[in-house]
Amino acid sequence: MTSPCVPRGRLAPSPTGALHLGNARTFLAAWLSIRSRGGTILLRMEDLDHPKIKRGAAESALQDLRWLGLDWDEGPDAGGPCGPYVQSERIPHYRRALDRLLAAGLVYPCTCARRDVQSAQSAPHAGDDGPRYSGVCREKARTYAEAAALLEPPRLPAWRFRAGAGRMTAFRDGFRGECRQDVNAAVGDFVVARHADGAGYMLAVVADDAAMGVTEVLRADDLLDATHRQLLVYEALGLAPPSFTHIPLVVGEDGNRLAKRHGDTRLTDLRARGVSAAKLVGLLAWSCGWAEWGEDVMPRDLAARFDLRSIPPRPLALDARLRTYLGL
Ligand code: GLU
Ligand code: ZN
Repeated sequence: MTSPCVPRGRLAPSPTGALHLGNARTFLAAWLSIRSRGGTILLRMEDLDHPKIKRGAAESALQDLRWLGLDWDEGPDAGGPCGPYVQSERIPHYRRALDRLLAAGLVYPCTCARRDVQSAQSAPHAGDDGPRYSGVCREKARTYAEAAALLEPPRLPAWRFRAGAGRMTAFRDGFRGECRQDVNAAVGDFVVARHADGAGYMLAVVADDAAMGVTEVLRADDLLDATHRQLLVYEALGLAPPSFTHIPLVVGEDGNRLAKRHGDTRLTDLRARGVSAAKLVGLLAWSCGWAEWGEDVMPRDLAARFDLRSIPPRPLALDARLRTYLGL
């Protein structure tokens, strides 16, 4: 369907709130990486049922991205050969992937009430992982229904993937170079989904990236650990993984993930306060070494300047200089 020579990348927003400056930097880099090589970009809305999903957030995410000057060739609004591009409309794909894992004896239902189970529907960003899972549910229930019957009051069991002892996953990250992890030692058997039908972040992202022919995943490095888990899922499903590139996150001056207390960096808010897309993109490009300080520039003008090697290896701190520049 797609030629292997043409890079295919994806923008995969979760409609869990408005996009902020950190999301914008990552999406800009993901977009430029593909556009600078004449590749194809798809947009996939990662809206699997999750308590943080906000009404209207999917549409505003698309608006924010368009405002930034990013576009896509395939997506919920644009259509395309690999649709639907909305995860909540792709449940049968996840069911099929889950069935393959079940047939291979690689997943089992888990009735634990831990945070990683509760948040199975969204990506486990750095710091979201709890302590290593002991495997306590391995022999508890044979089927999802059996596991569900054990839960009082009723709630959804999770599907855990058997990490398998004594093996390393390894990949060559486009930004960080060689990365290795013993998933079993790091997190143990991990959650791939929380619904009977297998709809959950870890399984869905693998099934979708493969089904949509994605050749490159560029995202923030708070998902680096999750990549090792995804590689195990790719292997179990007999699918070829894409290349992975993880770039540093944007953090507050205190070094923590961007949050309300760091000022309102939501794109909607910056726009409402009169910050132009070119000014914001210019600042983000400067932070990656692709523009001068104070330069206004739009994404399409950066394609020739894109270079992963000029991105500083440390997280980008939203310090006083940056905040002042944006009027935060
Ligand atoms: N929708 C996911 C998130 O916002 C992206 C996950 C990914 O890039 O794999 O965290
Ligand atoms: Zn368990």
